[in-house]
Amino acid sequence: AGPDPDVEQVRQRMSTIKHKILVLSGKGGVGKSTVTAQLAFGLARNEATQVGVLDIDICGPSIPKVMGLEGEQVHQSASGWSPVFVADNLGVMSASFLLPNPDEAIIWRGPKKNTLIKQFLKDVDWGELDYLVVDTPPGTSDEHLSISQYLATTHVDGVVIVTTPQEVALSDVRKEINFCRKVKLPVIGVIENMSGFVCPSCKNESQIFPPTTGGAAKMAADMAVPFLGRIPLDPRIGRACDEGKSYLDEIADSPAVVAYNSIIGQI
Ligand code: ADP
Repeated sequence: AGPDPDVEQVRQRMSTIKHKILVLSGKGGVGKSTVTAQLAFGLARNEATQVGVLDIDICGPSIPKVMGLEGEQVHQSASGWSPVFVADNLGVMSASFLLPNPDEAIIWRGPKKNTLIKQFLKDVDWGELDYLVVDTPPGTSDEHLSISQYLATTHVDGVVIVTTPQEVALSDVRKEINFCRKVKLPVIGVIENMSGFVCPSCKNESQIFPPTTGGAAKMAADMAVPFLGRIPLDPRIGRACDEGKSYLDEIADSPAVVAYNSIIGQI
């Protein structure tokens, strides 16, 4: 067989993107989409930095909601699918933009998801991007296999893994790291989200999840991957997500914003 024409098209489309980062988590609900969105908002604070977000969580896309783009539709141009823009330098593509109604469920089997991911990679007209941040479904599923297979022909900077401090979540992270090693995706590092809670009135820090905050740092050290930082639980993060806004602009020196800024500096 000759070269796969799809692979060549993906390679060409991706050639105008400097850095590609995948965001993974072992479990749902650990804050993966929140982290993806806030990292993208954070990178795009510099107006000269062009940022794209690709949401390949086809059966549970939440990026449009947390980035304030619910109900938007994809537009087709001569050069492909146009992303939906949050700002001039921040564009988003998600499966939910293809649906007539945002509450519609997508129930697809592997091959169909694979086709859509391939289409996202070869047909979205991102233009020149400094960063493409890809939100993936929880776990290691068909979507991860397809994206790593198609991106294997282009340069991928690596994977950011989001977890909570809970032991069950951490054991899934070990699986994620092993998956990355198997498919040869470099691990940029691990983020511990929902890591402790600082009471706004008494300022004491409580651990919400047993065993203790800091488990992810230890696990990262054991697995020889970088630890990028801890983001505490902060109800204002949940609120910003519900409103589809950047949390980072609002409360400049909260511990969570300090953590995000430090993480953005490392990717
Ligand atoms: P996932 O993508 O892993 O399924 P989400 O990003 O949808 O998870 O986050 C799950 C919920 O937790 C959302 O309601 C989100 O607003 C909230 N959340 C995420 N991170 C934090 C945090 N650090 N503090 C408070 N709420 C958070």
